[in-house]
Order: sequence, then structure tokens, then C-alpha cells
Amino acid sequence: MKLLEDRIQKDGLILNDDILKVDSFLNHQVDPALMMEIGKEFARIFADTNADRILTVESSGIAPAVMAGYVMDLPVVFARKHKSLTLPDNVYTADVFSFTKQVKNKIIIDKRFLHPDENILIIDDFLANGQAVYGLLDITKAAGANIQGVGIVIEKTFQRGRKLLDENNIRVEALARISEFKDGKVVFTED
Ligand code: 5GP
Repeated sequence: MKLLEDRIQKDGLILNDDILKVDSFLNHQVDPALMMEIGKEFARIFADTNADRILTVESSGIAPAVMAGYVMDLPVVFARKHKSLTLPDNVYTADVFSFTKQVKNKIIIDKRFLHPDENILIIDDFLANGQAVYGLLDITKAAGANIQGVGIVIEKTFQRGRKLLDENNIRVEALARISEFKDGKVVFTED
């Protein structure tokens, strides 16, 4: 998605060999106009699916997921990150190792908001090693729901998330695909 790639080139900050900071439009300050274009693009790409619900993880997946949900007229559920030791009843849970924070979180979704046999679309901000998406896949499976696809705003193809999902025959669509950081610049894949 050209608009997104241009914005990443303009405002993205390369923090180290594998982390891109995009907190001026996605991860802290949010650009609603760009998010709406992202929502429309996900809706276009996944027009051939018949999803009932979109799942994401708080907090950075919410903005793109909500815009996609608005355009596709679907409810959006964000998994909450859970710190306390005691878990409420009636929730699905999964363990997720956070790539940026290097800690293990539990994510939870209330059973009221995810049902057996529903068709699910997952949307998240970044795909790195795939742990966040995997947590959502675990929860979806536990609920007896079906995965229709995974939509990612920014994929880093040099990390192992995509491979993991491909191996499990999960459809993954990313709007910007970064193959490397080179000489202080973001390099996108050609396809
Ligand atoms: P994964 O679970 O795929 O390893 O990492 C995905 C999660 O880690 C994303 O939801 C995102 O919050 C965070 N993340 C991974 N890589 C980056 C990055 O390069 N920049 C930022 N800002 N967040 C990232």
C-alpha cells in the first residue's frame, strides 16, 4: 500500500536492527485518515471472505481493526493483556511473548464476544515473530471458531512470523512488507 509505505519512509524511525518506531501515526499518536485508508484496504483484500468478527490485541491493533470493522460492518473484539494472577471466569486465554517488551503476557477474550463456528479475521499492527497472532489463533481454535485470514499493517519479512503462519496454512495479507533496514532506510519487498 503506497500511502502506508510513503508514511513509513517519512515518519518511521529505525530503532535497531529489527524494531521500527511508528508512534507518530500508529502506536501512540494515531492518524485517523490513514487508519481509514488501511481499513478500506483490508476490506478490499478480504472482500472474498465472509467473516463474522474481527479480533485484535490491545492496544496498537485496535485502530486499524476498528477502521476495517467499520468499513466491513463487523464487530471488533480486542484481546486484553492480563497482568493479575487470578483470571476471571468465562474467558479464553493464551500466553503471548511480547517482542518489543520481552515479557510474557496473558491475553484474554471474554467468551461472550467469541462463539463456536464463527468466521474470524485477525488484524494486527505488526507481524514480527508471530506470537501475538498465534495467541489469537489459539484462542480462536479453543472457541471452536474458524480463521479466515490475518491482516497485518506492517510485516517484517526477515522475522519468522510469516513462515510460522504459512506452515499452518493461514492466509496472511500485509499492507507493507519490510525486507530489511539498510543504511538507516526501510527497504520494502518488491512484490
Ligand atoms: P510478534 O508477536 O509477531 O513477534 O510481534 C507483534 C507485536 O509486537 C505487534 O503487535 C507489535 O505490538 C509489536 N512489534 C513487533 N515488531 C515491532 C516493531 O518493529 N515496531 C513496533 N512498534 N512494534 C512491534
